[in-house]
Amino acid sequence: MKTSHIVAATVGTVAVAAVGYALYFDSKRRSDPEFRRKLKKERKRAQKQQKEEEQKIAAKTTATVEEVLASIKDEDFPTSMEAREKFCMEQLSAGEALFTRGPEGYEMAAVCFFKALKVYPAPAELVMVYQKTIPPEVFTLVMSMLSMDVQKKQEKYFTVFPPKEMNVKIGELPEGVTADGQKVVRRGLIATKDFAAGETIYSETPIISGLEPSLEGGEFCHYCMKQIVGEETKVPCSTCTKVVFCSETCEKSAATEFHTVLCTHDTEDASRPERALFDYSKDSNRKYPEMLAKFLAKMVHEETLNTGEEYNLFDHIERLRYLEIRPSEAEEKEIALLKAALGAKIPGIEEFINEERYLTLKGKLLYNAYGLSTSLDAERNVEASPENNRSVHDGPLVGAGFYRVTSYMSHSCEPNTKVAFAEHDNKLSIVAARDVKVGDELHVGFIKNGTLTTEERRQALFQDYRFKCMCPMCETTD
Ligand SMILES: [Zn+2]
Ligand SMILES: [Zn+2]
Ligand SMILES: [Zn+2]
Repeated sequence: MKTSHIVAATVGTVAVAAVGYALYFDSKRRSDPEFRRKLKKERKRAQKQQKEEEQKIAAKTTATVEEVLASIKDEDFPTSMEAREKFCMEQLSAGEALFTRGPEGYEMAAVCFFKALKVYPAPAELVMVYQKTIPPEVFTLVMSMLSMDVQKKQEKYFTVFPPKEMNVKIGELPEGVTADGQKVVRRGLIATKDFAAGETIYSETPIISGLEPSLEGGEFCHYCMKQIVGEETKVPCSTCTKVVFCSETCEKSAATEFHTVLCTHDTEDASRPERALFDYSKDSNRKYPEMLAKFLAKMVHEETLNTGEEYNLFDHIERLRYLEIRPSEAEEKEIALLKAALGAKIPGIEEFINEERYLTLKGKLLYNAYGLSTSLDAERNVEASPENNRSVHDGPLVGAGFYRVTSYMSHSCEPNTKVAFAEHDNKLSIVAARDVKVGDELHVGFIKNGTLTTEERRQALFQDYRFKCMCPMCETTD
């Protein structure tokens, strides 16, 4: 196949990709389990075809691939859309020129094709083009590079996250063995310093938070969840009366991150998608669907900022545990509402919000979200939504927040830390409940302990979080 053919086969997709967000969604797919599965499948196929050939070169391939990946730096890749497109085309042409020289050009050709794939807006499609157009030996090499690259990025995550100044790391902890003797590990948060009882270990702001629907538009800030004291300090949304803010800063942040996309503009037309989503939250008394809409809008916003951060919002939540939920009518409706509310403003998102992804995201909120206790009035009566959240607070809950680091915290009925909202907003602090030594695993309580018996606690935890609590308190007081 001539260079012009490969280029021609890809031009159509490049043109589509010029619509900004497409690039973003594909980079999501690249780190998506679904895409990795496909990748694996493709690689398997290629491996089967090339088994004999590959065995001969297997050892050499791994060494080559490692060498190649080590030599490629992030700085090698252009950042602007136009420059990336040009770079991609150059690599494709160079790759093809190299492999037409025969086997001695294969390795270098594979490097070019791999580089093109790294910047190409729709890598999955390009892989399919490769499969049809480049020699199988080269294809296998490219796939090995891609798969090792994805794996490396995965492994590197926990070496750079959480940031050192948070005084915790994410560790793999033993959790018994399976029936056939396989070790089971789970992730948990480990202290990297000693702390005395009462000291704050770290604080973090949420990825996203949401008010209980009944409080929306009243006394609480739609952005930071703070109680607004005094009518005069209340900042209304500039385009609706459905939400309020505690400050201009919160109003601006909300507008740029998600509210411009989700604002109802006080429309009278109940069929307008933003209004339909708002009404659904109020009528069903559920805040998670709207929180997910905010999350998706924020994720897109973050990407358009092009901050150069290696891991984006989606990367942060990808590794988190989630509750498996079976799709019901409610979820079907929620998916349709989100697609409609976001679809018109964010091209490509409708395909992104498929059933599997929505259920996983919702499952992550259900498993990881913390109840927010920011009300200054301890006696406040709030109509609680039926959605799970981790909370042991005595005060009323005004909403829930979804946190990058604290989501890794495990439960204990006698935890060594507690959750605090020191500034009465959605910034969550983890405070040592007793002395904590470096290397200790940190725990919080997911449920209120109170006067529950072991059996009752285990039942409550199993119902909401589907695990049997094996904490020291449960194990010793049967
Ligand atoms: Zn605020
Ligand atoms: Zn508004
Ligand atoms: Zn327990």
